[in-house]
Amino acid sequence: MDPKEIPFLSKEYAQELELTGDHANSLVNYEKGVVENPDNSPELQEHNEICQSGIARMAIKTGDLRRGVQLAKQLEGRVVKRDCAIILEQMKCYERGRDYDNQVRLLLDPLNEPDEAVRVVRESRSIEGAKLVAKFFVKLGDHNSAIQFLVMSQCVQEAFELAEKNNALKEYASAIEKHGNISQSLELAEYYNKLNDMYMAAKFYNQAGHYSTAMSLLFKNGDDEDCVALAVDCGIKSKDQGLTNSLIKFLLGEDGNPKDPAQLFRLYVGLGRTQDAAKTAVVVAQIHQAKGSYRVARDLLFRMHQQLREKMMRIPLDMNKSLMIIHSYMIVKTLIAKKETQLAARLLIRTCGEIQRFPAHIVPILTSAVVICTQANLKKSAHKFASQLMSQEYRPKIHEKYKKKIEDIVRKGGNQTDAPEGSSPCPICDEAMPDYAMSCDNCKSLIPYCILTGRHIVADDFSKCPHCEMPGYYSEFRKLSNQNENCYMCGGDLKEAIPENAKFYLDKMENEYK
Ligand SMILES: [Zn+2]
Ligand SMILES: [Zn+2]
Repeated sequence: MDPKEIPFLSKEYAQELELTGDHANSLVNYEKGVVENPDNSPELQEHNEICQSGIARMAIKTGDLRRGVQLAKQLEGRVVKRDCAIILEQMKCYERGRDYDNQVRLLLDPLNEPDEAVRVVRESRSIEGAKLVAKFFVKLGDHNSAIQFLVMSQCVQEAFELAEKNNALKEYASAIEKHGNISQSLELAEYYNKLNDMYMAAKFYNQAGHYSTAMSLLFKNGDDEDCVALAVDCGIKSKDQGLTNSLIKFLLGEDGNPKDPAQLFRLYVGLGRTQDAAKTAVVVAQIHQAKGSYRVARDLLFRMHQQLREKMMRIPLDMNKSLMIIHSYMIVKTLIAKKETQLAARLLIRTCGEIQRFPAHIVPILTSAVVICTQANLKKSAHKFASQLMSQEYRPKIHEKYKKKIEDIVRKGGNQTDAPEGSSPCPICDEAMPDYAMSCDNCKSLIPYCILTGRHIVADDFSKCPHCEMPGYYSEFRKLSNQNENCYMCGGDLKEAIPENAKFYLDKMENEYK
């Protein structure tokens, strides 16, 4: 045989072996196929390209990724493109086969794609992969990342030493928080305890399940908001009645320092004690409301309302009513400014029905009610509120500007009538009910209110705020969005509001919230 023929025969043999899956022998034959010092004939160049790309492929297939990829990189033109495709194919094979270690190896070294390698390790939680990534970052001098991945690969001692040496204890702690086991958390808790860092010590006692140790540290730091919040997390996680009872006392101020009631609320929500959570919300909101801080009270109730919703908890009636009343009052001003006199008057009537909730502004609210009800042709109501203002307690406080007018209304007597309230179908039983009634006389259901008008919702004109998901009239959402105005409850943009199915919404409220 002509020795010159050997490389060509080897190439053909290699190709056959590749087809049969004998990658190791195929590699040997592709290697034999390469012609050293080829002349410049295109045929010979193509022959060598085929052999080299074969070597690259077989190197990858037999696990010598480094060589395979490097060879592939050296190749030119269309062959390179093909080989890149081969590498990607190989990556996919690893991915499909969940061979994360080789995938990470390929990404780190020949491909130099550390971000992608990090992603694979995070998603796969491959320990070997994490070790490889850690090594990569150590070499790079990126200690923080190295610490993360050392912990992930369970090389905790190494990670800790690296952290101490480089003043990166925070990184180490956050890695333990995410990936550490109980004994590692406990060890770290004790370390922080010795350093007198109560918060961090408690955090890791909590993580290790040593709740009462954690809490006793936190109880000594009632002035620190973060410690209080952590105590609540700890109480929720512990599910221990004795501990949560001491925690409630702590939050209520047994140490002479009552904590932010939002934390007590959060604890009750976390423990699934909806009624207690709602009671807390109502009491705290009422304290703000009594001082005349209506927006604070409304926002607080709304936030707590949303927290309960998020946990799929049903809103207790009391809390729902508190939010409805304060919200109704809050939107009156806006409605007056928009000359929506009827709406404003109806909501003032609602507010005055609960006037004891607004002790700081009884006289001004009753006064507005008289004025707006008169404008809205609700003369009977105007007379009623005017008469209330004639009491010894309120009369001296009426603004001079309105005194005479109010006295005139009272003098005219109470034989007047209100323009009748409109009616609209109950969204549950379809029987007509007054627009501003919140419960249906026919089916006895409680009906949600529209957050833009205060009326009960109706089935054929229904939508929800795209952000806070509070219900209302679709047409009103549209109107507001066309005026570039935002949700009256959460302040969110209303452009995405679409007509929705009220019955579906009501069913969901009824069945999914416990
Ligand atoms: Zn009904
Ligand atoms: Zn909203």
